[in-house]
Amino acid sequence: MNPLSQLPSVDRLLSAAAIASLVELHGRAVVTAMVRDVLAATRAAVKDGAPLPDEAALISRVGAGVTAKTRPKLRPVFNLTGTVLHTNLGRAPLPEEAVQALVAAARSPCALEYDIETGGRGDRDNVVDELLCELTGAEAATVVNNNAAAVFLLLNTLAQKKEVIVSRGELIEIGGAFRVPDIMKRAGAKLVEVGTTNRTHLKDFGESIGPRTALLMKVHASNYAIHGFTHAVPEAELAALAHRHGLPFVIDLGSGTLADLAAYGLPHEPTPAEAIAGGADLVTFSGDKLLGGPQAGLLVGTKELIAKIKKNPLKRCLRVGKLTLAALEAVLALYRDPDRLHLRVTAVRQLTRPEVEIRSAAERLLPALVRALAGVPVTAEIVALKSQIGSGSLPVDRLPSAGFAIRPQGKKGGVLNRIEAALRALPKPVIGRIEDGALLLDLRCLDNGDEQNFRDVLAHFQAP
Ligand SMILES: *Cc1c(COP(=O)(O)O)cnc(C)c1O
Repeated sequence: MNPLSQLPSVDRLLSAAAIASLVELHGRAVVTAMVRDVLAATRAAVKDGAPLPDEAALISRVGAGVTAKTRPKLRPVFNLTGTVLHTNLGRAPLPEEAVQALVAAARSPCALEYDIETGGRGDRDNVVDELLCELTGAEAATVVNNNAAAVFLLLNTLAQKKEVIVSRGELIEIGGAFRVPDIMKRAGAKLVEVGTTNRTHLKDFGESIGPRTALLMKVHASNYAIHGFTHAVPEAELAALAHRHGLPFVIDLGSGTLADLAAYGLPHEPTPAEAIAGGADLVTFSGDKLLGGPQAGLLVGTKELIAKIKKNPLKRCLRVGKLTLAALEAVLALYRDPDRLHLRVTAVRQLTRPEVEIRSAAERLLPALVRALAGVPVTAEIVALKSQIGSGSLPVDRLPSAGFAIRPQGKKGGVLNRIEAALRALPKPVIGRIEDGALLLDLRCLDNGDEQNFRDVLAHFQAP
């Protein structure tokens, strides 16, 4: 007898109790399609000689298939990589105030481009431009999708078919294909490189200014540092030179934090306020790097230049939505109270978290990790670690931290890759890093409030 004739029909599987509850949860269409897929795959396998599965096995395959298919792709994870502003993990987690504002704006109509006082049409930039001016000392501000878009828009507006002078030491590439020369070309501007990789002088800029020059530009060398015999022209001198020639001086700050991080024991990172005070006419920076807000590109500067930028039709293509503006407004508002930033802005809190606090978290959580790894041929211990800020901010600085090192017993390194994969397969994936023969879990970004959740998730760990 043909074993395939024993396979249950689609209708029979759909009427099983376990499948009916899947239909209740996910709808008939998804479940029926999965039942058909599972039956087709089973038929093919049986034809190839695989044994005929019983009905319970088929039902469990359908369940697993539906669960995998309907699971959201953008899932929350535990970032134990040691990189706080991890671009691949969504950079800065938002402060609670911003989450609330975002949810409220998402749920209901809001005054996005509507002036509640007059009942007239408004401008979406007005949601944040006053706050941005207050916090940076600039005359005007506007917001686009990210800092790459901000740089592109400013070059396209002010330097199309003209020349932009930049130091050779600043022609950087940021991860994810942001390269200053490429952006410049796409924006229609001609790059004029001056100086050398390590040293650039004021006269290099002065000698390159000509009738086609649109502006002088400084790019913050975010993700690398040059040491040794180096020289860069101070911003105030560049600004003065630009202004003598009637040209704007613009700075791509990259990260750009609105507070002096040195006050929290972190290395100093230049702020937009310093750039404006130093004579810059336009400054661009990211919303989701050190600032700790949503992905956005912020442009602050003179009224005249910001007005020109806002008139560029590309501004419409690069604008942000209400969710971004709601979160950004809430985060910027927290910067009005710099004394409590380290408590309220999640990214700043994680960056300034004291090593002793991280180590005591490790002590509280070690038993749960050891329990999860029982029977796996590895050791797990608490170790001192160094976290990175990430997103190209302050690249050479490392923050003393603590966490776990999982090492194979014996020489079988492959077990680490299997544990790393099993941690990623948890209901809330745990993302660490493998370094020097150990799987490292840096606890800096695991907030105290998430510890119980972390234990619960670890309890699902399946030994590889
Ligand atoms: C990060 C960075 C960018 C790109 O910013 P995004 O917000 O990621 O688009 C551009 N310039 C510099 C100097 C940067 O550090």
